[in-house]
Amino acid sequence: MSARDWLDKDFYAVLGVAKDATPAQLKKAYRALARELHPDTNASPGAEERFKEVSEAYDVLSDATTRAEYDEVRTYAGAGRYAQGGGSGGFSGVNLDDLFGGGGRAGAGSAGFDLGDLLGGYFGGGRPGGAKAARRGGDIDTETTISFDDALQGTTVGVTFASDVTCEACHGTGARPGTGRHRCPGCGGQGQVLHNAGGFAVAETCPTCRGTGEVIEDPCGVCRGAGRVRRSRTVRARLPAGVRNNARIRLRGKGQPGERGAPAGDLFVRVHVRPDPVFRREGDDLCVTVPVRYDEAALGASVEVPLPAGGTVTLRVPEGTQSGRTFRVRGRGVHTASGAGDLLATVEVVVPQRLTGAARRALDDLRAASAMDDPRADLLARNARTRT
Ligand SMILES: [Zn+2]
Ligand SMILES: [Zn+2]
Repeated sequence: MSARDWLDKDFYAVLGVAKDATPAQLKKAYRALARELHPDTNASPGAEERFKEVSEAYDVLSDATTRAEYDEVRTYAGAGRYAQGGGSGGFSGVNLDDLFGGGGRAGAGSAGFDLGDLLGGYFGGGRPGGAKAARRGGDIDTETTISFDDALQGTTVGVTFASDVTCEACHGTGARPGTGRHRCPGCGGQGQVLHNAGGFAVAETCPTCRGTGEVIEDPCGVCRGAGRVRRSRTVRARLPAGVRNNARIRLRGKGQPGERGAPAGDLFVRVHVRPDPVFRREGDDLCVTVPVRYDEAALGASVEVPLPAGGTVTLRVPEGTQSGRTFRVRGRGVHTASGAGDLLATVEVVVPQRLTGAARRALDDLRAASAMDDPRADLLARNARTRT
């Protein structure tokens, strides 16, 4: 990262330490936050982002040289911010080239950028307490597990997850009831700070006030000034008929609430479908294995095949059907908004493990009648041809 990013990042605030914190205090604060926010142990939304911020802040502040450079940049920038006064625009007297050592000034009439000039364009002459557009709420990922039948028919489930909600004690203002706000010292009420991106001054959201231009005099005791609190929320989610395992269903506007009236984020529900003891799904087809006796396969038969909606359908197994053959029953698979899949019934010849006297005698007769019919003759002949 470059020094140009430092202008709008308050690493002391990120770590929650004073500007004159000792290296030991920095280390202690960093370790506590890193433990709390580590992605391996903290799955809450935003934790990973915060973890990165904290790591970045510590990287800069733990090195005495970079910390000194950072402090210097911030002091320049701070001087510029406070110089404007009264909330009217103009960061007069601060030159980005001075701040970042970007080429220096060749005297009067140089091409150096003056923040005061640039700000006139960005802020339209300055808006007291001017604030950027409120930020849309974040998206939330959650998951649910449903039965095979519910996936086929569609269902409505309640999904419960942790989410930020507006703090009721302060109605989202973050201020202790009866107390007010005052102008943000980080941006002088502009809600934005500047940094230099390749010779252009780019306005970014003030990290101190998050763009509101104001800070809280006395923070709300319930939400500690955030205006939002973490709560368990339950949302009813409609899952369409035919929803697939691992599908990700989007519920618009059911995510985190937006800041100051901005739209809420979206809720994404990952759907897990429990396997079924009878049917297996392949796309929109349903597969079922149907046992048949040897005589049914050899002579042909009508066999009952189970249906996913309950009941059965009669399947005509023709004479001479081989074990493993699959029959397609059209339109009896998964029904979705875009159509219906098929039911694929695979017959499997089962061999009886115990035989009654009459069946055994009949099979003995069959063996005698089939003695000349060797099912392996072709296999052995093929092998002989191949190996010699
Ligand atoms: Zn509150
Ligand atoms: Zn600010």
